[in-house]
Amino acid sequence: MSLVVMKFGGTSVVNTERIMRVAQRLIALKEVGSGVVAVVSAMGDVTDELVAMAEEISPYPPEREMDMLLATGEQVTIALLAMAIHSLGHQAISFTGPQVGIVTDSGHTKAKIREVRAERVRAALDQGLIVIVAGFQGVTEDGHITTLGRGGSDTTAIAVAAGIGAEVCEIYSDVDGVYTADPRIVPSARRIDVVSYEEMLEMAATGARVLQLRAVEFARNHGVAIHCRSSFEDTPGTIVKEADESMEQAIISGVTHDISEAKITIRDVPDRPGVAASVFGTLADANANVDMIIQNVSESGTTDISFTVPKEDLARAKKATEKVVLELGARRWSLDESVAKVSLIGAGMKTHPGVAAQMFRALADAGVNLDMIATSSIRISCVISAAEVERAVRALHSSFGLDSEEISAEASPACGEGADGGVG
Ligand code: ADP
Ligand code: ASP
Ligand code: MG
Repeated sequence: MSLVVMKFGGTSVVNTERIMRVAQRLIALKEVGSGVVAVVSAMGDVTDELVAMAEEISPYPPEREMDMLLATGEQVTIALLAMAIHSLGHQAISFTGPQVGIVTDSGHTKAKIREVRAERVRAALDQGLIVIVAGFQGVTEDGHITTLGRGGSDTTAIAVAAGIGAEVCEIYSDVDGVYTADPRIVPSARRIDVVSYEEMLEMAATGARVLQLRAVEFARNHGVAIHCRSSFEDTPGTIVKEADESMEQAIISGVTHDISEAKITIRDVPDRPGVAASVFGTLADANANVDMIIQNVSESGTTDISFTVPKEDLARAKKATEKVVLELGARRWSLDESVAKVSLIGAGMKTHPGVAAQMFRALADAGVNLDMIATSSIRISCVISAAEVERAVRALHSSFGLDSEEISAEASPACGEGADGGVG
């Protein structure tokens, strides 16, 4: 029996009508003889609404209770989807993450999957049931409910696919694949047919939220190919898999952007060994992720340290920064929440000199000022002002010849009803 794991995100299950459509799709696949597993997200903006409610109660809600709250969103969808399938005369069973043995560490709100004990999914498939699993959630060894970070249903889907030995995991969303830039910002962006895990990892890490970073890591580590496609049409999307010779070797695969980070600067830190270790050790202890870092030594023997953190970690990062500023005797610190990161990704960069120069020139010509720069072997990222991010993405996209001739209707922002708007 072929096994299919399909994941449907929030816009694909935004209301009961859409849930019925997903049910029909699953049944159609079951009828051609496949074993079908669906992983689903919370309906529409439910997760955002739950976060907002928690914040009305407290700016620092206990993370264990946050997970208890957030996990409820997906539980609503699985029950409704199972009911929808039953109403159409077919058999289905819904499971929460803990029920299907998604075991995680105890890093509440961004827990990492340690193990998938998929026996229960396999047993239900053997009984001929369509299996529905709640995305985004798991359980610690000692029974506490956890969530996997925003966008985490993608990771659940890949983990379940790996757990039951499916070779491909299909991720359905409001776009029909991975594009050379976010189609909401760049209407002339092109859909990429095939992309390597390596490039997709960099794209996901720098803001192409069509796939969660962890999901791509998990897929690469377990050899699961990802097929990213549209919930609204039955057309092929983008395949993410190990690089091979059949893939087109573009110098640049895409331009990504991210407005989800803030920049913190600690000024006049005494310049002595161990300072960076204290700053970033304190942030790590506070469970705050750090992305880009810049340190500048001044002539007076003090140093300024700037770094970016995800806004969702900002409350923890601010507390940690206040603590370390006092400990180090630094003079002051500041926060800038209106920054954005724009990145250029391409495996061909390794062998083509001049990409960075062309990137900085294109940004300069567009009048965009650079605040921080970071690189990997296949990526260059710049921190800029959030107000300039759309201009920067479009300038880079055309400078590197990525614009398509025609503006595709599917790629235009109007494609996803109920979708949220662009940035800025
Ligand atoms: P879901 O809720 O189904 O998980 P997401 O909203 O997480 O869907 O991801 C789909 C969105 O990702 C699209 O609506 C699109 O705006 C955005 N996106 C950002 N960058 C890209 C990209 N390079 N290619 C495709 N989509 C992208
Ligand atoms: N519902 C969660 C979120 O909005 C998980 C997901 O949709 O992937 O982040
Ligand atoms: Mg998503």
